[in-house]
Amino acid sequence: MASAITHFVVGASLALPFTESAALRAAMPHWAVPVTAGLLAVAPDLDTWAMLALDIPHGSFFSHRGFFHSPFFVILLALAVASLAVRGRTVFLLAAVWAGAAITHPLLDMLTDGGYGVMLLYPFSAERLFFPWRPIRVSPLSITRFFDRAGEILWSELPFCAAAILSGLAVRRITPRAGAPRQTPP
Ligand SMILES: [Zn+2]
Repeated sequence: MASAITHFVVGASLALPFTESAALRAAMPHWAVPVTAGLLAVAPDLDTWAMLALDIPHGSFFSHRGFFHSPFFVILLALAVASLAVRGRTVFLLAAVWAGAAITHPLLDMLTDGGYGVMLLYPFSAERLFFPWRPIRVSPLSITRFFDRAGEILWSELPFCAAAILSGLAVRRITPRAGAPRQTPP
């Protein structure tokens, strides 16, 4: 996996423009939009704990980077959580923001140089996939082993964090502010 820090930063950054959404601001504090998007972007790696707790074999359907890393599951998860969090059409907006953030998770994992491939195309295919270019050093599942290699892992992830933060801030800057006075023609 890529590190949880990077999954959070990338997911949260890409949700930054939606802090200006009037519908979302009516439903939650503006800071909660990127924070919850970041948490949803980390969530697929909970399959690691499920795999260990339930003794699921590596490389099987429900194992790490399997079904729970598919965009299909991530979209269903975002819809389910959003329907509990908000009401009306805002459900679909919040689910879209959360799903968009969370789908960065399998895409980042496909850029890592180790572990199993990602079940990206489920339900059309259960094949485990990587991108041809894999510049991110894979994070070990063990937290103690992660800190042994944290420097090189985070350094390899830094360009992706920087690109996400800059993109999120740039799009937020050109997004009309909620509640801003409208320009009326003379
Ligand atoms: Zn992952």
